Amino acid sequence: MKKYQMLIGGAWTDPASGNWFESVNPFTAAPWALVPRGSTEDVDRAVAAARSAFYGEWRSLTATARGALLRRLGDLIAADTLRLAEIETKDNGKLLAEMRGQLNYIPQWFYYFGGLADKIEGRVIPIDKPGVFNFTREEPLGVIAAITPWNSPLLLATWKLAPALAAGNTVVWKPSEFSSVSAFEFGELFEKAGFPPGVVNIVTGYGNEVGEPLVTHQHVAKVAFTGGDRTGESVYQQAARGIKHVTLELGGKSANIVFDDADLDAAVNGVVSGIFAATGQTCIAGSRALIHRSIYEPFVDRLLALAATARMGNPLDLTTQVGPITTRPQYEKVLQYVGIAKEEGAICRLGGGPGKRPECGEGWFVEPTIFTDVRPEMRIANEEVFGPVLSILPFEDEEDAIRIANNTVYGLAAGVWTTSIRRALVMSERLEAGTVWVNTYRAVSYMSPFGGYKRSGIGRESGVDAIHEYLQTKSVWIDISGNSPNPFVMR
Ligand code: NAD
Repeated sequence: MKKYQMLIGGAWTDPASGNWFESVNPFTAAPWALVPRGSTEDVDRAVAAARSAFYGEWRSLTATARGALLRRLGDLIAADTLRLAEIETKDNGKLLAEMRGQLNYIPQWFYYFGGLADKIEGRVIPIDKPGVFNFTREEPLGVIAAITPWNSPLLLATWKLAPALAAGNTVVWKPSEFSSVSAFEFGELFEKAGFPPGVVNIVTGYGNEVGEPLVTHQHVAKVAFTGGDRTGESVYQQAARGIKHVTLELGGKSANIVFDDADLDAAVNGVVSGIFAATGQTCIAGSRALIHRSIYEPFVDRLLALAATARMGNPLDLTTQVGPITTRPQYEKVLQYVGIAKEEGAICRLGGGPGKRPECGEGWFVEPTIFTDVRPEMRIANEEVFGPVLSILPFEDEEDAIRIANNTVYGLAAGVWTTSIRRALVMSERLEAGTVWVNTYRAVSYMSPFGGYKRSGIGRESGVDAIHEYLQTKSVWIDISGNSPNPFVMR
């Protein structure tokens, strides 16, 4: 088993604890790599390295040179996608087809934000006071703590690293303890691209042993966090003590709403892919399907028929459609929710238990599961499962669909299936979600802002909006009047 080291100040480093833990392949349930178990001491060293890079070489580079480094990194990733995608699949069990798609797309974030790096401009304000020149500067924040989950390790880290670096910050990145291996390989590419030492540091380990000391470190200016909403709440509280900037990308319980005027072939595909692609382990999973009452039964039959054809198996096999659950605790949690839904009186029409097919091997599989007769007040209609479990709810009309869709604490995304332009516009206005897809689902781009309403988060990633999450505005006043005004009144 390969024994990895952490990246601190440009050097590959053993953890201060002298301990490593095993990373387990979710398909074989066998350990396949050793990950350093970081601690406060490693966090302190990494933040110090990031701080000295921020005040040192990184700061003296022009924005154009920073952008060029980001674009070079994009090229290096583009040349290495296959290897990185395989590592991600071995580490988190998600389909190689999905991870390849993500890896092929990741360079675009580095190209886009590399391009933005030297287009960060201040403004000259036509100030109302004569004899004064006023302008603004957009400045980096300092050291950014990037904390990421296990489901799309490199993509979600990229969403933070690309804008943070383009804006001139330095970073300490803590990947999930369940999927750290690709981070080490990614770290090598930063070195190869020529980033100065300390600009990107990687400290691995557990949330309480690395995450917490990072969030509370006095020299961390901002915490960029993606993960569950409970963890996000605690990160937010801890960061508040240091009055730190925070972005939170949290969970969801997104509604995929099918109207009777929809292209039903497209809608069936969209609802199935919204929940079963990525084995439901995605924050934007369309885990609630809201179906217009007039088409409810025939549409449910079509969903069941398509979902029943899903091929489970080895995620490295490109023909597999549903892979294992990434971690054992998550596998147990998903099965627990299946049990809760049954107890609540939801009707299990597909799956509803562990995947025991021969092609599932030793992996942590859950059968693609569909519940009907779900009522809005049930836990299965409100809580994030993060697995291949779909709840289906009927609705009567637009008003009813909006009421049910918005009736959760989350607001990450929503899907609407309709051929009416009026309905598409009304729904996209009234749905409380950071992303609304009409006649499509699970589309993201480096160009378009992504983030949550309500308990799904704070701040936006991707697009021009994202770079402003990593900048602060300074207002500069220069007196050009040559006068000495009265010192005892405000100017
Ligand atoms: P998690 O909240 O358990 O962990 C996320 C990260 O936080 C990990 O690196 C973990 O080690 C770290 N962490 C844990 N406790 C911490 C603490 N006290 N202080 C600092 N860091 C701590 O989430 P997960 O189970 O890895 O990921 C699944 C969750 O992530 C789901 O809820 C999912 O919806 C969410 N998610 C959101 C988005 C989004 O963009 N909105 C994307 C993907 C996943």
